[in-house]
Amino acid sequence: MRNLLQKLADRLHAIEDRLTVQMQIATAAAVTSVLLVGALAGGAAFVSYRNTASLVNSSLATVASSTSGRLDRFMAERQQEMNLFSQLQPLQKLWRDDPVELRRSLEQLQSTFSDLAWIGFADVNGKVVAATGGLLEGASVAARPWFKEGLQRLAIGDVHEAVLLASLLAQRENGEPYRFVDLAFPVKDSSGKLLGVLGGHLNWDWASQLITDVEANDGDTDTRLSIIDKNGVVLVGPDKGTTRYSGEQLANILKKRKGAFSEISGDQRMLTAFYVGMGHREYQGLNWIVTASQPTGIALAAAISSAEIILGIGAVTALIGLGLAVAISRRIARPIIALTTEADRIGRASGPTMLARQSGSVEVVQLTRALRSLLRRIGFAEERTREAELRATENALQFKDDLVKLQKMADTDYLTGLMNRRAFLAVADDTAEFCRRYKRGMATLMIDIDHFKKINDTHGHAAGDDAIKGVADIIGQSIRTTDKAARFGGEEFVVLLREIDQETAMLLAERIRSSIEQTTISHGETSIPATVSIGVAINAESDRDVQDMIERADQGLYVAKKTGRNRTFLMAASEGREARAA
Ligand code: GH3
Ligand code: MG
Ligand code: MG
Repeated sequence: MRNLLQKLADRLHAIEDRLTVQMQIATAAAVTSVLLVGALAGGAAFVSYRNTASLVNSSLATVASSTSGRLDRFMAERQQEMNLFSQLQPLQKLWRDDPVELRRSLEQLQSTFSDLAWIGFADVNGKVVAATGGLLEGASVAARPWFKEGLQRLAIGDVHEAVLLASLLAQRENGEPYRFVDLAFPVKDSSGKLLGVLGGHLNWDWASQLITDVEANDGDTDTRLSIIDKNGVVLVGPDKGTTRYSGEQLANILKKRKGAFSEISGDQRMLTAFYVGMGHREYQGLNWIVTASQPTGIALAAAISSAEIILGIGAVTALIGLGLAVAISRRIARPIIALTTEADRIGRASGPTMLARQSGSVEVVQLTRALRSLLRRIGFAEERTREAELRATENALQFKDDLVKLQKMADTDYLTGLMNRRAFLAVADDTAEFCRRYKRGMATLMIDIDHFKKINDTHGHAAGDDAIKGVADIIGQSIRTTDKAARFGGEEFVVLLREIDQETAMLLAERIRSSIEQTTISHGETSIPATVSIGVAINAESDRDVQDMIERADQGLYVAKKTGRNRTFLMAASEGREARAA
């Protein structure tokens, strides 16, 4: 069970995650409104239906009871009239002695109410003495139940078809047999002696007429009335002559005397109210059951239509509620959607960096505020990071610069700005290796200032330094950019000439020598004349490394010094070897 609930909750969450806030609010509001309106409208429709149905029931009951009352009153009046007639003093002598006059009186009585189809007087033996229209006069009614009972007391027989009169009366228009209610009264003389029986046959058509009148006056409610006798047989109404109710149902109706029920008649469901006649004054009543029926569809049409109207109003209200729910949810969701869209844009290339203020609810205002604050903090942190990065880059660049400067310082002679011995040897090594592999010519000049000690001694150490610088400058200006010059130490220089042959190397050496000779180096006010001796060496296949060539140039320098200074001397490779060997 718990698992199931958990699963349901998970499923609900999964669905929620796929729905927008707008859809969720709209759905919740719509379901609530539909449920509420549905329950209200359903309840109201049910109550209205029930009330209208009970109204219909009571109106049917009223029709049934008033019709029954009219029947009873009518019967009571007929009974009273005939009873009065049987006891009229002036008629006393006619019963026995004057059948002709009696017939006239009977016909007068009949004329007051035409539905009395036949009125007659039979003597104690059952022989008809006088009758309206002379019908059955002389015939015997001794066997008729009304006569037999009429000898004893006032008798009213239930509806039956005409027996003796059937052939005597004119054919009815609709061809149906006559049906009568018998009324019989014992006729006595003034001494109380029984003279005979006054009998009347009440044409049952009047009852049919009464029902037709009631039905006609009932508007268009389609009420159908029936009169049913105490045995459940239909006297007036649909399926006349058949037994409509029997057994327990009939007993119930007769016991309750009035009420309502629903029943199936033919293929229709009917709402039926019934009323059992109670009689009126002296008339005891024959327990006739008057029923008033309406097809349920018609009876409850008003109820159904009022229920439908209520449900319709409910549906419209629910629709309005639905529309409102959608509108409200859209309004609520709008700032959230706007926030989402904006937040999504943030951080993308050249996109915005701040959210616009959103409003619509306290939560949205607070969320916007929180997000704006978060973005400000992120922005601040980003700025600091950027600054730190910038500083780091600057530092790195500075470091690299320093490194280059350091490197340069490490490779450079502090006094002349030429390469120092260590840097020169590295370059010279590479160049010698390259020239050996590609068979290119290269040369080395070893230069030394002549009698430098004398300069130092004469002009001082600082003047000596200036002389070294001056010579260095002239050497630097005399060579090509691809050539390299270095101070080897003291007032001694070495020059590496690339892509050069012996002749050109000698020419260049000579040019350097003569330039120095012709230049007067100045130290303050003092002019210092200087000359140099130059040893020249060209690379040779026999060289093991660049040192061999440098050494040869040094030997050349030695020879130049020995042979008078201020001159250049080329030390050939073979001479070099010999010199080395020596
Ligand atoms: P030579 O013609 O045979 O070369 O005679 P020299 O006097 O030049 O002899 P040498 O080359 O042996 O003497 C070098 C002198 O240079 C020795 C030293 O006192 C001086 N010297 C070395 N380095 C420096 C320096 O950096 N500055 C100055 N002012 N003098 C230096
Ligand atoms: Mg020297
Ligand atoms: Mg010297």
